[in-house]
Formats: sequence, C-alpha cells, structure tokens
Amino acid sequence: MSEETVVVIVEDDPNIADLVELYLRRDGFRPYQAGTGERALEVISERRPKLVLLDIGLPGELDGIDVCRIVRSESDVPIIFLTARDDEVDRVLGLELGADDYVTKPFSPREVVARVKAILRRAEARDTADRPPIIDLGEHIVIDAGRREVTVRGEAVALATREFDLVHHLAERRGLALSRRQLLDGVWGADWVGDDRTVDVHVRQLRKKLGDDLALETVWGVGYRLD
Ligand code: CA
Repeated sequence: MSEETVVVIVEDDPNIADLVELYLRRDGFRPYQAGTGERALEVISERRPKLVLLDIGLPGELDGIDVCRIVRSESDVPIIFLTARDDEVDRVLGLELGADDYVTKPFSPREVVARVKAILRRAEARDTADRPPIIDLGEHIVIDAGRREVTVRGEAVALATREFDLVHHLAERRGLALSRRQLLDGVWGADWVGDDRTVDVHVRQLRKKLGDDLALETVWGVGYRLD
C-alpha cells in the first residue's frame, strides 16, 4: 500500500477516530479526520481520499447518510460505513446508498484496517486491469468495461461502483443463473461480510437505472440471470 494513500475518517467520537487513525498510520496510510458531515465534505474535496470511513450518527445538519449521498453523486470513492447498531445496517442497505462495506461498532481497529486494505485492493485491481472489451447487451445497452460506463440507447447511466461491477459480472456470464452467494463472492469478494440482501438491493437499483432494456431475470430458488 502506498504511503500516500489518503483515507478520510468521518467520526465524531474522538476516541474512535484517534484509534482508527493510529492504526491506519501504523500501516502507512495518511489519515485525515472530520468530526461533522459538513467538515467531511470539505476534507474529502481537499484531500481527494482513496477511501472514506463514514460514521452514520454525526452532529450537525448532515449525518453519514447525507454525506454518502452527496459524495456518491460526484465520485465512486470507496466508502465504508461505521455503524453503531444492526438496525443502522438495515437502514444503510435499504437506502441503496452504494457504500462498499460497513463495520459495526464496537469494532477492532485491526479489523477496520483489514477491510480498508481489502476494498482498496479491489479498487486497485479494477483500475489497473487491461482495457477489457465492450459488451453489447441486447440492442440498447452497452457496457464499456474500460471506461466503466454503461449506456442505454446511447445515454450514459450513472452507476455506483458495485452496481457497475455487478452488471459487468453478470454480463460476462450471460445466460447463467448465478446464486446470490456466487454474486457476492464474485463481485464483493469472498472475504466480504454481508448477506444476500446486498445483492437484491443492487439488482433493484440496476433494474431501476437501466430500465426494461435490461434482461435481468430473477431465477426463483437460485438467484439471477442476465439474458
Ligand atoms: Ca457518531
């Protein structure tokens, strides 16, 4: 991991923020802290981080969910939520915010650093891959894996990182029914700790964003298949 790898820690509890910062620093990262949502937006736009750790409950006008929405509207920087309770996890998944992962408090800082590295490895692999081919999905949808762009009837559609990865993964396996577990392993990675709902949430988003031109079928008792 490059020592220049900037990570922004958005967390209002200074004890947690300092601890995570300490562990990230030890591993050669360059962490910056923000204690409110407003400050987070400033720090993220100043520092251009490779990854954001984002607490949900923040003081002030903007909570972590607001921050995620705003950041996602202009960037696909990986975001890991720091959640205080299981019901926050449900909320995060239900809102389809396009976060890359989450960890539940209390967490060990070691675990957070491990997650950060795993997510960054994936992001890096994605960025350095050879320019892959363009995939035509039916008549109207084109996936340009090199530019990480999907167009529907010639119009580019904004997809979150994992939404793109999911449709690309399915497109490379057209006609095959894939289980949610296979999709989690293939798209999120075998070390990702999450459940099937994550896949369903992303599929819903893809259907919404790509519309009826997307032949993404639910295979009952199995998972999903792209035709
Ligand atoms: Ca908090």
